[in-house]
Amino acid sequence: MEITALAQEVLAGNRRALARAITLVESTRPDHRAASAALIDALSAQKREAIRIGLSGTPGVGKSTFIESFGLMLAEQGMRVAVLAVDPSSARTGGSILGDKTRMEQLSRHPSAFIRPSPSQTHLGGVARRTREAIALCEAAGFDVVLIETVGVGQSETVVAELSDVFLLLLAPAGGDELQGVKRGIMEVADLIIVNKADGDLKATATRTCADYAGALRLLRRRPEDPDGFPKAMTVSALEQSGLDNVWSEIRTLVDWRRETGRWARRRADQARHWFHEEIRQMLLARLQSPDAQRLSAKLSEEVESGTTTPTLAAVALIDQLWPEISHSKGAESLDLARDTP
Ligand code: GDP
Repeated sequence: MEITALAQEVLAGNRRALARAITLVESTRPDHRAASAALIDALSAQKREAIRIGLSGTPGVGKSTFIESFGLMLAEQGMRVAVLAVDPSSARTGGSILGDKTRMEQLSRHPSAFIRPSPSQTHLGGVARRTREAIALCEAAGFDVVLIETVGVGQSETVVAELSDVFLLLLAPAGGDELQGVKRGIMEVADLIIVNKADGDLKATATRTCADYAGALRLLRRRPEDPDGFPKAMTVSALEQSGLDNVWSEIRTLVDWRRETGRWARRRADQARHWFHEEIRQMLLARLQSPDAQRLSAKLSEEVESGTTTPTLAAVALIDQLWPEISHSKGAESLDLARDTP
């Protein structure tokens, strides 16, 4: 299919076309990269905007149950819901998140929903770009809400927080020790801390856990992008589908306030700048992986190890070779430093 035809199908909200388009942006083949850039470009003119909701939590906390219940609730309210996954740990046993067909069974059959499992064999840098582009495609396809799921391990939460408008952290009911297990950095980016499984025997523990987190949140620095009372902690039962309407209404409160005060646009602008810098970093790192760069690096490493040169001089030599236009020694010459340096 031609890119313009594919773009039109995506704009028309065709889910199969959307799936194909995401496959295209996930591909690392150079011709596919070029085609996906053209596709993203063709779609960029439309200004459709979804609410991007990041969701993180450790395995077993109930992410897929929550997405199933929450997604169905939104879909039944007439919204179109897309679900994407960020799973950097492709080495994980048991397959990638969302990969299991039995997960989110009802939601995946709903005509207003679109669920995309995470691709395997991707590193975090590639995952971020692929997810960013997949989000853009879902927005172009007219989805109202894009849920971005990630497991709460490593850096993936930070990546997802930088990709979303609202970030939810899902937790299980637990004793006080658990609180320390949540990294401070994650608490700082969470907009809502949701204690799941507030049902049956676990209900009392969930309420206590929620109060603990509410206390911990009050100790955090007030963020300029928040209205009064945020970030918030709350309890839900994804299984019994209770508290989910509360989650949605808090998200709406936050989103409306941020939109009215210009914070929404500011946050997206900041994220765009972040990803621009991140792309540069990734491209430079990729350049360092090229065979010639690797050979040179291996040679210089040996010289550093044997003491023939210093780490700094070796780094300068490598940069000079790979990027003569930004050569350090050139700069030094023009300052007349190179000659004076013994
Ligand atoms: P994920 O690994 O975070 O996606 O977690 P799952 O959604 O697969 O859920 C893990 C387990 O917790 C499953 O056995 C679910 O049935 C259970 N679970 C999920 N949500 C709830 C809930 O609200 N209450 C209770 N009691 N169990 C739940």
